Amino acid sequence: MMGYVMKLVLFLLSLALAFAAPAAADEREPDIVLAGEITHADHQTYRDLVFDVPEGMSRVTVAFSYSGREERTTIDLGLRDPAGFRGWSGGNKSRFTVAEFFATPSYRPGPILPGEWAVVIGVPNIREDVTARYEARIWLDGPDAAPASLGGPAAAPAPGWRRGDLHTHTGHSDASCANRSGMHVPCPVHVAIEAAIGAGLDFVAITDHNTATHLNALRELAPYYDDIVIIPGAEVTTFHGHANVLGATEWIDFQLSSEAAAFTALLDQAERTGAIVSVNHPRLPSGEDCMGCGWTGEVDDWSRVAAIEVVNGATIRRAGTVEHPFSGIPFWEDLLNDGHRITAIGGSDNHDPAARSGPQAPVGSPATVVWSLEASPSGVLDGIRQGRVFIDIANDPDRLLDMKATFGEREAVMGAALVSGGAPVEITAEIAGVSAGRAEFIGPEGAVAESSLSEAEVSDDRRVVRLTLSAQTMPAWLRVQVRDAEGAIVLLGNPIYFE
Ligand SMILES: [Zn+2]
Ligand SMILES: [Zn+2]
Repeated sequence: MMGYVMKLVLFLLSLALAFAAPAAADEREPDIVLAGEITHADHQTYRDLVFDVPEGMSRVTVAFSYSGREERTTIDLGLRDPAGFRGWSGGNKSRFTVAEFFATPSYRPGPILPGEWAVVIGVPNIREDVTARYEARIWLDGPDAAPASLGGPAAAPAPGWRRGDLHTHTGHSDASCANRSGMHVPCPVHVAIEAAIGAGLDFVAITDHNTATHLNALRELAPYYDDIVIIPGAEVTTFHGHANVLGATEWIDFQLSSEAAAFTALLDQAERTGAIVSVNHPRLPSGEDCMGCGWTGEVDDWSRVAAIEVVNGATIRRAGTVEHPFSGIPFWEDLLNDGHRITAIGGSDNHDPAARSGPQAPVGSPATVVWSLEASPSGVLDGIRQGRVFIDIANDPDRLLDMKATFGEREAVMGAALVSGGAPVEITAEIAGVSAGRAEFIGPEGAVAESSLSEAEVSDDRRVVRLTLSAQTMPAWLRVQVRDAEGAIVLLGNPIYFE
């Protein structure tokens, strides 16, 4: 009989532990488990659960659970590092992470010092004759760990087009906005996120210059703004060009020398953190007006650069057109012609997210629209790597641009390669939201063909334009762009490659 009761008690205990702090489905085993018991002797006392952090760690995650809640046992939680107090969440959080530049609210970001740390538990209440079991599971991550989550909603597979802005600034670098009495002050991060939601975006990258202090604000905001994917990032501003590191959850070293090896170090760091690199506004002039704005950096392996910002909102705003002398399109096409497969993207480069008028390109102008498998930072970044992406200059949610190439049973979408093995190859482009104007097919030698949209076949509210490539006209790559009735580029697609 006693055996049965003991088993039942153990079973209920295990249930209590399981429900107290559910583990993520794909979570690895903890590096450290600190388990123990408390009794009434611990009532209204504190206890340090000591553990050791080795050299070279970059974040610490703690998940805490305990039994006896149904008997009104309560255990509070905090953290101490070798230098002192690191935070206190009492009874309000059963799981938290601290890292150099971000931490779960209640905790403090800062260096992960090697040495003696402690999960500090406080016991506001445990009744007489009650024994409660606790378990602290601790994960220590080094710099080679998988990218940290900033606490946004968990993503389920949901393939689809997602539109967003890949280049925005906040008051953590040089963005300012009007405060409540109209004075310009460093702009808080949430204002940029509100602007992105107001622009109808599905994702926004916050890319402050050369710092990582915005990460802690993003860590606080990501769970709240669960209707937009927030991508952490940095615009690494060097004397030899600007590059966005998208997905970075640590500080990226910007103090590069002029040698190619220096950019290799940046690419190494980005790859290690699961981030991707985009070269920004590469053809801007570089000089005393804007130091290092144009790209003069040496890159020894362009295949490691995922994207080129071919459309920069701030520059369009100044030039009045996408096709200005500082456009990034020719820079990108030169790389395509050298055999690199790099995704063209856009970014507003907004520095005043609250402004409704004035010199700034609004957040979302241009929008980069990405086919991605899930609504998460890694989903969007993978989509950019894959290259089924188009740029919508005016961020009109009704607009869409897609293209595919078929040879018999084989098919390729934007960003992919078609191994045709012969001709003819049929190209089909679908355009939504633009009814007058023209679609232009462009290859290494320039325009290959164009089609009037007003005369195009219409299917499901989309204009469908087609092109047949013969063996003689097979280009190394082909992309499509759409001009409106006035001749301005409004949609710009990525290439399909031919082998
Ligand atoms: Zn820049
Ligand atoms: Zn910028």
